[in-house]
Amino acid sequence: MSAERIDGKAYAAGLRQRLAAAVPAFERATGRVPGLAVVLVGEDPASAVYVRSKGKATVEAGMASFEHKLPADTSEADLLALVDQLNRDATVDGILVQLPLPRQIDEQRVIAAIDPDKDVDGFHVANAGRLAVGQPGFVPCTPLGCLMLLQDRLGDLSGMEAVVIGRSNIVGKPMAQLLLGANCTVTIAHSRTRDLPAVVRRADIVVAAVGRPEMVKGDWLKPGAVVIDVGINRVPAAEEGKTRLVGDVDYASAAEVASAITPVPGGVGPMTIAVLLRNTLVAAFRRAGLAAPE
Ligand code: NDP
Repeated sequence: MSAERIDGKAYAAGLRQRLAAAVPAFERATGRVPGLAVVLVGEDPASAVYVRSKGKATVEAGMASFEHKLPADTSEADLLALVDQLNRDATVDGILVQLPLPRQIDEQRVIAAIDPDKDVDGFHVANAGRLAVGQPGFVPCTPLGCLMLLQDRLGDLSGMEAVVIGRSNIVGKPMAQLLLGANCTVTIAHSRTRDLPAVVRRADIVVAAVGRPEMVKGDWLKPGAVVIDVGINRVPAAEEGKTRLVGDVDYASAAEVASAITPVPGGVGPMTIAVLLRNTLVAAFRRAGLAAPE
């Protein structure tokens, strides 16, 4: 058997088009376009690339992008003052502070300072709490993107056995909450899980968010399982001095057993930015008192 490749890039492109199509109605109703403020502190090259691509995607969707680049030695007080200013700025619907932050700044304090109704990353405890109790809020972009891919592929997920490997606040835990909300029977595995292959073998749905290159093997999977690989790991390539990206799943062996699997790159990765734009659009509609498009 060779698994179907779940094309996250194509799904994300479609989602971005649908979002762009909803912007003119918002503009007609409010006289402005939705706005996303992205804050980058320091010079981390990977973060700079993410911030650039988020800004570009925002503009391509017809929304306004406000980029704030601060030096690496910015104080926590200065960053909190900027967050406060963005909270009060009526043209800003979404605020994203790119992580990680330099050591002198307490990330939790900064996230806590963001207005939860502008917290399009869904990292604020108010939004984690809303997700836990099933109230509308903002859900972290990567797991919400994974849920969209799963529902697109499988339709109703009710009753399915789902195993999420990883329990971080930004991927594993919200992923498990979303799957629970979709009526799956959910197991969360982590570094202390005993006999992980046996746990994974129960699953109709496997979401791997571990950060260990190609850890999940094909012979861990139940035949026909659907596999979502969140991992992004850079490893040495065959060619001397070059690197390549791999996921947390060993794609070659997993594709022999699974019915569908996301590739890395081109699977979950492109969904993250598309969902960020979706969350920004939803924030804008909600803040304007308009029904948010789904
Ligand atoms: P974290 O490092 O925060 O969490 C990793 C989780 O994996 C932890 O819960 C850890 O368990 C668990 N884990 C580690 N080793 C093992 C093991 N041997 N067996 C079972 N579980 C293990 O990572 P993130 O959640 O932030 O990210 C996970 C991956 O997803 C990374 O590769 C990251 O690059 C990628 N990522 C991709 C995104 C995208 O846009 N596609 C966005 C965000 C992340 P414990 O809690 O016990 O330590």
